[in-house]
Amino acid sequence: MLDLPKCPKCNSEYTYEDGGLFICPECAHEWTLESENKTNETENVVKDSNGNILNDGDSVTIIKDLKVKGSSSSIKIGTKVKNIRLVDGDHDIDCKIDGFGAMQLKSEFVKKA
Ligand SMILES: [Zn+2]
Repeated sequence: MLDLPKCPKCNSEYTYEDGGLFICPECAHEWTLESENKTNETENVVKDSNGNILNDGDSVTIIKDLKVKGSSSSIKIGTKVKNIRLVDGDHDIDCKIDGFGAMQLKSEFVKKA
């Protein structure tokens, strides 16, 4: 016997399954578990080099010397970066670094401070 989920709309317990579709007889809401899982997966989770989840406004430390495009200097290991902002893309952290200005970093090269 399948453990049926409660209706996400009206919280009714009297839901039933029909061909992979869940149906609520009380408010006529229809949904699938697959679509619920999808919304969880698309949530953008950015993790640092240790696997800690990063959030907007976090402070991180650089764990590797990073070359800066168009500059002869590089960002040194141990540099602290305050108030990061998470973005989509290959470089998933937007931030400002003293002496360099606005930068984009890869989360794999930082750790949560
Ligand atoms: Zn319902």
